[in-house]
Amino acid sequence: MANTKILVTGAGGFIGSHLVTFLKKKGYWVRGVDIKRSEYKKTDADDFKILDMRDPKNCAEATKGVKEVYALAADMGGMGFISSNHYQIIRNNALININTLDQAIQNKVKRYYYTSSACVYPEYKQTQPDIAGLKEEEAYPAQPQDGYGWEKLIAERLCEYAGAEQRTETRIVRFHNIFGPHGTWDGGREKAPAAICRKVAVAALTGNHVVEIWGDGEQTRSFCYIDDCVEGIYRHMCSDYKEPLNLGQDRMVSINELAHMVADIAGIKITIKHIDGPQGVRGRNSDNSRLRDVLKWEPQISLEEGLQRTYGWIHESVKAKLMSMDTISHPRSFRNIPLHAYSKSTASTRKNPQEQRASETSHKVNV
Ligand code: NAD
Repeated sequence: MANTKILVTGAGGFIGSHLVTFLKKKGYWVRGVDIKRSEYKKTDADDFKILDMRDPKNCAEATKGVKEVYALAADMGGMGFISSNHYQIIRNNALININTLDQAIQNKVKRYYYTSSACVYPEYKQTQPDIAGLKEEEAYPAQPQDGYGWEKLIAERLCEYAGAEQRTETRIVRFHNIFGPHGTWDGGREKAPAAICRKVAVAALTGNHVVEIWGDGEQTRSFCYIDDCVEGIYRHMCSDYKEPLNLGQDRMVSINELAHMVADIAGIKITIKHIDGPQGVRGRNSDNSRLRDVLKWEPQISLEEGLQRTYGWIHESVKAKLMSMDTISHPRSFRNIPLHAYSKSTASTRKNPQEQRASETSHKVNV
C-alpha cells in the first residue's frame, strides 16, 4: 500500500485529520490539503499543502499523481453557521466540489469519495422529534435543509453522473452528526456535541451550572463517534457500492438528553436555560438498513463512550484556554467568570478567511 497515493481534502479539519491518521496506519502514502492546518492535531500526512480548493489550478496540483481522492473540504459548521450563510456556503462549496472532481477526472484518479450530509433529506420528513430513520431513497422529492443541504444534493448528482459517464468511479456518503476529539469546539462553527461539552466544561470549571440551549431542547438527532466514521468511510470506499449511503448511528436522543448525559460524565448537575435560536429540523435519525447490508458492518462505539472521550479532550482544552486567560492562578475569579464572557473572548481569537460572521454565535448550542 505504500505505493498507493491518496489525497484527503479538508485534511486540516475534524474528520479529514482523523482520516489521514487512519489511512497512514493502513500503510498508504497520503497527501493532505486544506486552506489551514488543524488547530488541534499535528498532521500525519506525508505531504501537507495549504491550498484553496475553490481554485481549479490548486485542485490540479492537489490531485496530480494520486490514485484515490477523499473529498472532505467544505465551508461548513453547526446550525448557527449553516442557517445564516447560505450564499457563502453554496458559492464556496460549489466551487470546491466542481473543481476538485473535475481535476480528479483530468488527472485520471481511479476512485473519488464525496462526503455529503443528512441535511439533504427533505424537511417535510423531519417535522416531529420522534421520527423513523431516514432511508437513502427518501431524499426525493427534494426539500433539503438550508443552502448547505441544497449544495450537497447537487454535488451528489454531480458525482453520480461523473461515476456513470467518466472513468473516475465515485462513492457518496451521507454523514449523520459525527463527533469526537480534535473537532471545532468554539468560535461559532462547532456542532451540538462539542458545544455542549464546552458549555458543561465551563460550568464544571466556573461553578456556574446554567447551560443555554436553543429552542426547547426536544429536537432530536443521532450522533456517531469519529472512529466509527473513519472505519465506515474506508469500508465504503473499498466497496462496490455507487449509490448514496448513510453513515451514522441510529439511536436518536434529544438535545436536552445529550446535555444531561455530558453533565453526568462531568459529575455535575446542570440547569438548562432554553433560549431563542435556530434549531434545524425537529427530528432526524439514520436508517442503517442499507449500511448494514452493503458494508456488513455498522458503528460500534456507544454514545456514552464517545461522549466520555470527547468530553475529556474538550474539558482539557477549555481548562487550557481559561489558564491562558490567567484565571487558573486565581481560583476565586476563575469560578466567577460569566459563561458569555468566556465565549466572547474565545470567539474573537479564531478567524480564518471564510469565517468572519460565524464568531457571533459562539456560546450557543448548534445542532
Ligand atoms: P471541518 O470544517 O472540520 O473540515 C472541513 C475542512 O475543509 C476545514 O478544515 C476547512 O478549512 C476546509 N476547507 C474549507 N474551505 C476550503 C477551501 N476553499 N479549500 C481547502 N479546504 C477548505 O468539517 P468536518 O466535520 O471535518 O466535515 C468534513 C466533511 O464532512 C465536509 O464536507 C462536511 O460537509 C461533511 N459532513 C460533516 C458532518 C459532521 O457531522 N461533521 C456531517 C455531514 C457532513
